[in-house]
Amino acid sequence: MNQQIKHIVIVGGGAAGWITAGRIAARHARAESGITVTLVESPTIGPIGVGEGTWPTMRSTLMKMGISETDFMRECDATFKQGAKFARWVDGTADDFYYHPLMLPQGFGQMDLVPYWQTACAGRSFSDTVCLQEQVCEHGLAPKMITTPEYASVANYAYHLDAGKFVGFLTRHCVDKLGVKHVLGDVTEVKSAPNGDITAIVTAQQGEIAGDLFVDCTGFSSLLLGKHLEVPFVDKGDVLFIDKAIAAQVPYEHPDAPIATHTISTGQAAGWIWDIGLVNRRGIGYVYSTRYTSDDEAEAALRAYIGPAGKTVNTRRIPIRSGHRQLFWKNNCVAVGLAAGFLEPLEASALVLVELSADMLAEQLPASRDIVDIVARRFNDTFLYRWDRIIDFLKLHYILSKRTDNAFWTDNRAAETIPDSLQDLMRLWRYRPPGNCDFTSNNEVFPAASYQYVLYGMGFKTDPEFLRPSASEQRAAQEHLAQNSAAIKKALRMLPAHRELIAKIHAYGLPAV
Ligand SMILES: Cc1cc2nc3c(=O)[nH]c(=O)nc-3n(C[C@H](O)[C@H](O)[C@H](O)COP(=O)(O)OP(=O)(O)OC[C@H]3O[C@@H](n4cnc5c(N)ncnc54)[C@H](O)[C@@H]3O)c2cc1C
Repeated sequence: MNQQIKHIVIVGGGAAGWITAGRIAARHARAESGITVTLVESPTIGPIGVGEGTWPTMRSTLMKMGISETDFMRECDATFKQGAKFARWVDGTADDFYYHPLMLPQGFGQMDLVPYWQTACAGRSFSDTVCLQEQVCEHGLAPKMITTPEYASVANYAYHLDAGKFVGFLTRHCVDKLGVKHVLGDVTEVKSAPNGDITAIVTAQQGEIAGDLFVDCTGFSSLLLGKHLEVPFVDKGDVLFIDKAIAAQVPYEHPDAPIATHTISTGQAAGWIWDIGLVNRRGIGYVYSTRYTSDDEAEAALRAYIGPAGKTVNTRRIPIRSGHRQLFWKNNCVAVGLAAGFLEPLEASALVLVELSADMLAEQLPASRDIVDIVARRFNDTFLYRWDRIIDFLKLHYILSKRTDNAFWTDNRAAETIPDSLQDLMRLWRYRPPGNCDFTSNNEVFPAASYQYVLYGMGFKTDPEFLRPSASEQRAAQEHLAQNSAAIKKALRMLPAHRELIAKIHAYGLPAV
């Protein structure tokens, strides 16, 4: 059992496979370590080709792989994402929207502005009162300037990217710069030792490939963990109802059209439409529940949203199963990406889970087989916790809606569909706002600030009886709010238009770190 872990075999060449390969190779694959990373992917089954919204974590993920931000932005048609704008989620009317920005509220951690906002700033949105980023997004401004170094920011940001180009870019970087061995082959058989460990995969084109640790990145097919090791799928369709997507790629009306610097998520009869602005096109798709609408109705709604181009644009339908594997790591096999599970892309939580998984694998790569089960147990505990927290946070977006136009919305508010953990938090937050004390694990995914943005954006009220700020707190809050107003004015004055900055990055590049 003390066999060394030297040969890592990753099966699957989508974003999950390449991010995992890149992180492990950048950290470990050197001649003196003897560690090799091999990525095997089917020459016939392509990556899923969607997944264009990311988290700010992508900046450090790319940096740790030694990627230049300028190269990444040029080659992946990437743009800056500064949060999400949720339209028509509260009551479904045309002017109903709120923001979940990527910056923390002003003074967060020193003082909580919720009590003051709720008692003194009625009529102004929570995110606009406490954060500069809503205005930056509404004005279509970039989160940095051309003089800001790579990966540094004025306002916190993530990316929107072309999923297909991203996979091609990562492939080239991992193979050319990080020494990942790339094998094109369809896996047809998996070989095991008597203890259940995988010893090798067999490919139709390249024969047998042996390894010490196998990473299943085979997408929804979950070939190694789900099919071969028979780890059951935990269905979450009773909490999160989305089970289908229709995706389209829509050109801008003219090449200079402004590029939105936030994901726009617009509530629909039986789900919501994402709208992501890249350099030359938008990625737009409707994720919906087939229990509450038909494919044809959903397609008609998507085409109507797109407008005139919607009459002719090609669309693609993708079935979705909400949920995750009961375990993510069994024996010497760990699943990352869609092979581990999937939840609707409302908060772009899939790629961040890939990054977190790749990070834990790279940082805690077991040196020898005799500690694999310990690392596996820790990995499973960590990620089961994270999946549950993500489920809570996604469900939060639905439970406060007042929409009644389709049972999709009213059923989403039924108590039996809301996890107990979220129901408990909602009870607590009747009397005090979400705070860091609610999220104390090292493995939190969404901070208390994110809960505040969604909760108060959706119109939730914490009982003012229990909030009453003291006179000194009111003075401190006023100072923070004045600082936020000043920061908004400064940002609007100094930040360039989003498209203008992208054009400059393509022409001149950002200063290297
Ligand atoms: C509608 C939709 C919207 C999404 N939006 C977002 C978003 O905005 N943000 C976000 O973070 N995530 C999003 N996601 C999730 C995101 O697309 C994925 O997490 C990401 O692309 C990683 O996919 P993957 O690599 O796990 O799987 P895939 O891209 O499906 O790759 C699977 C790989 O496995 C290989 N393979 C399969 N079978 C075999 C075999 N027998 N032999 C060899 N190789 C095999 C294939 O060749 C392929 O390379 C979205 C997903 C969907 C469905």
